[in-house]
Amino acid sequence: MENIYSNIDPIYPCPNMWQGRDGHAIKAVVIHKPEGEMPGVKDYLMNPETQKSYHFIISYDGTITQLVNPDNSAWHCGGPEGATWPGLIPDVNPNYYTIGISLEGFAAQPHTERQFPYFRWLAFFPQTPETIGYHHDIRADKACPGLILNKAAVIACVERLVEAGNYVGWPAEGAAK
Ligand SMILES: [Zn+2]
Repeated sequence: MENIYSNIDPIYPCPNMWQGRDGHAIKAVVIHKPEGEMPGVKDYLMNPETQKSYHFIISYDGTITQLVNPDNSAWHCGGPEGATWPGLIPDVNPNYYTIGISLEGFAAQPHTERQFPYFRWLAFFPQTPETIGYHHDIRADKACPGLILNKAAVIACVERLVEAGNYVGWPAEGAAK
């Protein structure tokens, strides 16, 4: 796929990832909350001992921080446990075929208006429950990203963006309003 994500600058070379995607295509986005705030979250994930990463973190103010190139597999899902997500591919680690996006903050608090640009990523996929995963749907033991993010509302918002034609590309400045 076209690497639209390379418009975002800077890219931090997070060590917690696999090179490539083991032959799998990107087919979905998985949304997270990191249970923390920037820049501490970024510093935490840049530590190789944590063994965790996301491709992107969207800060409260809408700033996009890229930790892993989408051509590579970030370590954001973990192996499925009690999974209910219809997008799951049996016996394949979801990290291989998903983009991990984390919204700065905590599962128990709502996201901010400025964090809405992540919908633009979602809009690059057909808008179905199969292409929008929540971490909790893959790992039932995780609260992430919190019940505050209603999937039906997310899909409806993406559909409105698509209808408005407002879904192609990413603004050159990196963060939309
Ligand atoms: Zn998560």
